[in-house]
Amino acid sequence: MDEFELIGRYFTGLDKGPGVVLGVGDDAAILAVPAGEELVTSVDTVVEGVHFPADAFPEDVGYRAVAAAASDLAAMGARPLAMTLALTLPAAEPLWLTAFSNGVGTAASAFALPLVGGDTTRGAAVVVSVQVFGTVAEGRALRRAGARPGDRVVVSGTFGDAAAALELLAERWRPDPRDGEYLLRRFYRPQPRLALGQALLDVASAAIDVSDGLLADLGHIAAASAVAIDVEAAAVPLSGVLRAHPDPQTARAWALGGGDDYELAFTLPPGTPVPPGCSVIGEVVRGRGVTCDVPAAAPGYRHFAADGDGRESDDR
Ligand code: ADP
Ligand code: MG
Repeated sequence: MDEFELIGRYFTGLDKGPGVVLGVGDDAAILAVPAGEELVTSVDTVVEGVHFPADAFPEDVGYRAVAAAASDLAAMGARPLAMTLALTLPAAEPLWLTAFSNGVGTAASAFALPLVGGDTTRGAAVVVSVQVFGTVAEGRALRRAGARPGDRVVVSGTFGDAAAALELLAERWRPDPRDGEYLLRRFYRPQPRLALGQALLDVASAAIDVSDGLLADLGHIAAASAVAIDVEAAAVPLSGVLRAHPDPQTARAWALGGGDDYELAFTLPPGTPVPPGCSVIGEVVRGRGVTCDVPAAAPGYRHFAADGDGRESDDR
């Protein structure tokens, strides 16, 4: 199977959408940006053996790559428009490709991201790059800058499940099988908070999606906004599975330090109602940096950091 056969068989036909003028098959795709809106774009790459185990189900690999990229659109409050996919593969295995493209297709329709183009190359390991495009009314996108002293710090969903799943995958922890299934699903099938992000336009003063770790990502809001953030550890919401963990400190460390949850963290000016399903976990104050009443939470993972050992979080 050559490159063109592969593209035709697995990656065409997912390219229909209201903003798509021209999809797969030409030298480039053409997208329509509605009048009065701006284009928002981001790219995310995952590498086999680094971001996901080599024996991960290919459906999950495809789905998760798209979901993680879509989460950046959620954090900006953007409406999804389209995506492109750059794929590097050691070999063209039909079973793998069928499953992988099913995962991509499921996510494409779940998040309204038609696949309008890409690139397919041979290489030593599976590498998946998803570039997403979205639109937002001019000047209204959510940014990391904008938090002000007196704002409340709010998060969607629950934290730490993906970090717990990584511990499970690394065989450092063996939960009850049903709990393990739940955690792996949270890791492999993240749900980017696209609707929430759009609902926060003109409401939140700053926003970020949590991919590196809650405290680390709040640190990005604090730095960009030139403020400090105080987090109350006990207020950070945990899933039932993590609440039932025999060692509450471990569960708490996963929630504060682990990445990959793809929830939103944002700041709300005083008097703004907290959206349903969201929790207040702290406040914005004068100063710099993030403080938390529980010390020694693991920092988020940083690529190429001299002291990064790659354990515990996203972006390995
Ligand atoms: P070019 O050589 O002009 O860059 P390619 O031969 O790489 O084009 O790709 C042919 C068409 O197939 C293009 O429209 C490209 O966007 C699309 N394409 C290539 N790989 C993928 C992929 N993995 N997923 C979706 N579309 C793809
Ligand atoms: Mg070309």
